[in-house]
Amino acid sequence: MNSEKQFATLAVHAGEQIDPLTGALDTPIYQSTTFAAADSAEMAALYGGEKPGYMYTRYGNPTLHALEEKLAALEAGEAALAAATGMAAISTAILGYIGSGDHVVASRSLYGAAYNFLNKKLPRMGACTTFVPSLDPADFERALQPNTRLIYFETPTNPVLDVLDIGALGELGRSRGVPTMIDNTFASPALQQPLKLGVTVVVHSATKYLCGHGDAMGGAIIGPADYISELRQDVLRDFGGVMSPFNAWLILRGIHTLHLRMPAQCANARQVASFLAGHPKVERVNYPGLERHPGHALAARQMKDFGAMMSFEVKGGYEGGRQVMDRCRIFARAASLGDTRSLIVHSASTSHRAVPRDERRAMGVSDGLVRLSIGVEAAEDLIEDLDQALAF
Ligand SMILES: *Cc1c(COP(=O)(O)O)cnc(C)c1O
Repeated sequence: MNSEKQFATLAVHAGEQIDPLTGALDTPIYQSTTFAAADSAEMAALYGGEKPGYMYTRYGNPTLHALEEKLAALEAGEAALAAATGMAAISTAILGYIGSGDHVVASRSLYGAAYNFLNKKLPRMGACTTFVPSLDPADFERALQPNTRLIYFETPTNPVLDVLDIGALGELGRSRGVPTMIDNTFASPALQQPLKLGVTVVVHSATKYLCGHGDAMGGAIIGPADYISELRQDVLRDFGGVMSPFNAWLILRGIHTLHLRMPAQCANARQVASFLAGHPKVERVNYPGLERHPGHALAARQMKDFGAMMSFEVKGGYEGGRQVMDRCRIFARAASLGDTRSLIVHSASTSHRAVPRDERRAMGVSDGLVRLSIGVEAAEDLIEDLDQALAF
């Protein structure tokens, strides 16, 4: 499927074809660890990479291949690699660039495990990271060192929905010869395609919007063909965080409706955000779709819509935040995001409980901050649920 087709058509068709052997319309789940060769010469050619084909699922699998082709098409990238989880994808993608003596410049506002990987795991391999506490590309530029081999960021950020300038950071990397990598989980390629804006590599937790139904873990890396092939033949092969064929099939099926789910979730989110913004018990709403959000104009430029993630600060601080979470009836008290179901988390008592209070507040995670992942239910019901939860 050529990538000039519209996004919706690619979401349904890219990477998949009618099975030439059986006519099966849906991509089969190749639940096989091993693939037999006809003879020793063929197996030698497969091992040597002279003949394309499959040997062992950690090296490649046809169901994973279909997903990888689809992801490359959706992100407008040259090639893609599936991984077992978002964190397997992120660690693999970073290790594709970083070795002993190297330096990373990263945004301070990052998914917690990605921050820990850069902050705690890379030093064990002799590399280190400078975390930039601002959103300004000039501060990223000032943090560059002669040994900087990667600029890493995400936007919109978790859980305060800051918006970073994808085009400006991509341009900074290109002008200084440093690859740039973005975690595109929150927006998904339905809303933002960073490779088209000049970023080198996109990583995903496919567990979230790509899968969309909260039933499979997965990760993805999309980028230049030579880099992806190096990851496939070296880094991922040796670290071993490969996706299961069954999960690849679930995520393929999820992506068939990505272009339908995402606009529905964004439309719900807009209504929920404007309800919250007018509620007397709500101090502040972090949603890039609201005009007074500091990243609104930038988000309007680089995103197709404003996403379905938001957070808000409840009056009443820590206890207020807990009350809202406990009183919800439709929103599930659950981690993760990007599900068809709406989810709610009070950050200070759950996801950020291990972060010291001052550090947590510096990240914008105030005591009363509540994060919402808006699903595909009816907006009126979601608003009614929040309204009764806020009546404490
Ligand atoms: C969930 C998430 C991850 C980690 O993905 P897993 O699939 O849980 O390993 C990374 N980045 C972001 C932005 C996420 O939301």
